[in-house]
Amino acid sequence: MPALPSVDELLRAPELAALWEALGPAWARAVIREALEARRRDWRQGGGGTAEPIAAELRARGAARLAWSLRPVINATGTILHTNLGRAPLSAEAAARVAELAVGYSNLEFDLATGRRGRRDVHAEALACELTGAERTLVVNNNAAAVLLVVNTLAAAETPGEAPGEVLVSRGELVEIGGSFRIPEVLARGGARLVEVGATNRTRIGDYRRAITPATRLILRVHRSNFEMRGFIEQPALAELCALGAETGIPVAEDLGSGCLLDLSSAGLPREPLVGESLAAGVAVVTYSGDKLLGGPQAGLLSGRREILGRLRANPLFRALRVDRLTYAALEATLRAYARQRYAEIPALRMIFAGDLETRARRWAAALDAAQDGFWRAEVVAAESVVGGGSTPGQSLATFAVALAPEEWTADQLEARLRAATPPVIARIHAGRVLLDPRTVAEEQEPALLAVLAELAHAASGGH
Ligand SMILES: *Cc1c(COP(=O)(O)O)cnc(C)c1O
Repeated sequence: MPALPSVDELLRAPELAALWEALGPAWARAVIREALEARRRDWRQGGGGTAEPIAAELRARGAARLAWSLRPVINATGTILHTNLGRAPLSAEAAARVAELAVGYSNLEFDLATGRRGRRDVHAEALACELTGAERTLVVNNNAAAVLLVVNTLAAAETPGEAPGEVLVSRGELVEIGGSFRIPEVLARGGARLVEVGATNRTRIGDYRRAITPATRLILRVHRSNFEMRGFIEQPALAELCALGAETGIPVAEDLGSGCLLDLSSAGLPREPLVGESLAAGVAVVTYSGDKLLGGPQAGLLSGRREILGRLRANPLFRALRVDRLTYAALEATLRAYARQRYAEIPALRMIFAGDLETRARRWAAALDAAQDGFWRAEVVAAESVVGGGSTPGQSLATFAVALAPEEWTADQLEARLRAATPPVIARIHAGRVLLDPRTVAEEQEPALLAVLAELAHAASGGH
């Protein structure tokens, strides 16, 4: 076995000084130990030793250590609220508020007028109430947490030994949202007893009425989200359900999923129910996500009647589900954009209403043709984007995409190379070609995207 340098020799090597500085002493020693151990193992297993200079190997291992785990990617899939890619991008103002509030102290729970302790709720409450017509609004970690809080507060047994309260849900709304959020399981975990009402395709108001017992605590309406029913279907209007609730003294809660505050039908999407419409119909509390159609940070919002929201706020679970100042900062900025009707500042809304997609796709294709001389065999094609995140299922938005089909690679190979790039570019494959949809690529990201493609084409043609 050839002699290997010692750890101390490597730590003193002047050509590696910058690497050790970047890594810090603990990571530097770990990287050296790993490299030396790998060489010894290789030797013992008869690998004959690697010809790679140890300094090059240390640099590669060091770079791998220094790489961030959570990184920005370019979403060229055309799916706007891509749950795996972090759902809604924040507005520039929301991001700036987060950055400003992250590094210092704030009046999160401090009343600047009186100098006394305040409540964190105030930072989003007034705006959310103004935009939805609610009397109060609470914010928790996500909409799943919001539903859990509603069920647990309004229906769980309050003393040990007491039977769990009953929650009425239509059989047509016992959905799984994804990531194992299943309504029956959330109800069970929330400490309630599910009472199924009606049939999968048809539930009438009389079915709810007949299901009510002295143990009924809540009627829950659930947006089917990423699941659609067609044909011989029926469900009572929300107002009808609320009238039954008012008559029997049972609150009606609605899990809306997407927190739609703005009518999106002018973008060619089906009309999503608005938070304010549910409240106007008489729903006691509506739960919705902050990072779906609302276009803000991950959060769950609960908007509704004062008395019900007071009970939700008093549940000790609220403390476990609440959000930090960064979420309030981003949410306040997002809600302010709605209040000031500056919808185009919210990236998710801007992407939904984008009108320049063909122009942008043609610009990309022309840039690729000019710079890489037909390598990509780029073609602008009519395609479909989707909102995603369980919003507007089965509906798409017409878009234009750049289809790539270089001779060098199959679509799968190209998709993988794009994914491995810096920054990673996430694309989709359609009919044997890789599609890049400008709808979900911010204009500021265009140079980086085109640079990734130039780099790949360069490497493929043997250039360095
Ligand atoms: C998305 C969704 C949820 C879960 O919301 P998160 O914010 O992802 O926790 C719950 N219910 C419905 C109807 C949804 O669409």
